[in-house]
Order: sequence, then structure tokens, then C-alpha cells
Amino acid sequence: MLNGVVVKGKHESMVSQELFMKVNDIISQSTRSEVPHLKENENLPLKIFIKCDHCGSPFTGYLMKARGIYYYKCRQKGCPNNKSAKQMNELFLNLLGEYTLKEKLMKVCRFHLEHLFSSVAKEQVSIEQALKANLTEVTKKLEKIEEKHYALDEMNKETFDKFYSKFKKEQEGILMELAKLPKSSLNISGIIKLGLEKALRLPELWASGIIRQKEMLQNLVFPEGILYNRETDGVRTLKVSELFAGIAQLCKGGGGTKKGTSPFLSGKSLSAERGGFEPPVGLPLRQFSKLLV
Ligand SMILES: [Zn+2]
Repeated sequence: MLNGVVVKGKHESMVSQELFMKVNDIISQSTRSEVPHLKENENLPLKIFIKCDHCGSPFTGYLMKARGIYYYKCRQKGCPNNKSAKQMNELFLNLLGEYTLKEKLMKVCRFHLEHLFSSVAKEQVSIEQALKANLTEVTKKLEKIEEKHYALDEMNKETFDKFYSKFKKEQEGILMELAKLPKSSLNISGIIKLGLEKALRLPELWASGIIRQKEMLQNLVFPEGILYNRETDGVRTLKVSELFAGIAQLCKGGGGTKKGTSPFLSGKSLSAERGGFEPPVGLPLRQFSKLLV
């Protein structure tokens, strides 16, 4: 009603202003937040993303004016590693092809993801319930010490302060964890369907996208960039995101993975994948959601 203006209310606040802002940060990051983008050169989308396989430095790019050709080159002084942008972009497109879903594996891939996401969604419900129960409990504790200190005069200020800050911290921690949980109203089947349609067309999406889309896609699949080796004239990956590593694994195995194992977890248990209070629907779903942007 106030067009986003934050006004401190008259009631005693349930959370501190600091926590309120933190939670708002988490929420705004979880949606599509636009980061102002520098005007990058459309011809050099792999700048910085490509790293030198000889010295580890990121590549920069430049236009060789005499020939009107764009080049990527290693930023390290004296390192001769370089390549024409056109050829490098082609190498990258070939690599991207290896992580692109094949039409015939669409069904099996959807099966694995629906299975994975529905079991984590079940886990999420129980985590949410446990957190809410803890929240009720700690809120009661706070009310109780307030009553003891203010109303009944059974607790001195020093003891009250000690418990108050302890319980308040606990309460804020629980609220933070609740805020991190993905919305249970997410249409998971819909996200999977749309995401898989995009996963079929990675090279096409990359080639036809504007620079911001290209960068988003390349970082989504290879979050740490890739390496270019001048001697082999080849690229290799550093880290591949879980979702696309799973797709590549499915493609290599022709869709036939061992019964009961999902290629999207690479042998990790669900709780290991979550890593503490990581949102339980986990990385592949977040990666999927980014594909839809
Ligand atoms: Zn180098």
C-alpha cells in the first residue's frame, strides 16, 4: 500500500529491523533481480569466462582492427595463448552440445527429476513443520520470561537480558531458515517441463541470445568457466552444474542408469545435497528455474 516504503510499526516488533532487511534481501535475490550490466562486446561473450589452461588467467578480448577480427587472449603478460573469437565460440558451442538433452531422453530425464523433486518436496514439508514448531516453542519461552520479569517480578534484569538475547537469536535464526525455504506452492511439474524444453536447445539458445542471456547460460552450465589449451586447441570444463552433469550422464548412458539411482544426485544423499539449511528442493531446481528466465 505504501509503494514499497518501509515504515516501522507501532506494535512491538517480532523481528529486528536488521533481520527484516536480511530476509528481504534473500527474497529479492530469489526472484529475478536485474543487475545493471556493463555494455559488453557482443562479439566477446566468453571474455573472463574462458581461462588459460597454461597459466590460469582469465581471457580478455580485443578487435584486431587491421583485419576486423575479434580475438580472445590470455590476460597474463607474455603468455601467448589466444584464439579468434569466432573459432572459440564454435568450440564452446560444441562443448555445450555435450550437456544438451537429447529428445529421446526427455521422458527418462523428466521421470528422474520429478522423482527427485517430489521426494525433496516431502522432506521440505517436514522441515517446515519442525521449524514452525521450534518457532512456537521459542516464542513461548520469550513470553514466559517477559511475564516473569515484567509482570511477576520473579526474574532480575540481568537474568532476563541473558535469556532474552539467547531466545531472540534463536527465534531470528528460525525465521531466517523459514524464509530460505522455497515456496511450497511452486509448480514443480511445470518448471520441469519448461526447463527440459530449454535443455534440449542449449546451443541454439546461447547462439541466438543477447550477451546477458549468453552469460547467464554459460555460467549456469559451467559455473567456474572453462579452460582453453593452445597446444591441444581444445577446451575443458572446470565444474559442471549438477543439473547439466546429470543430463550429460544420462546422454552418455543412453538413458539406462541403474534402477533407483538418479543421475542428478551423483551418489549424494538428499540431505548431503542440501548441505545443512540449503533450500531442500535443491540445486537442480534452482538451476532449472534460471533456465526459464
Ligand atoms: Zn596464459
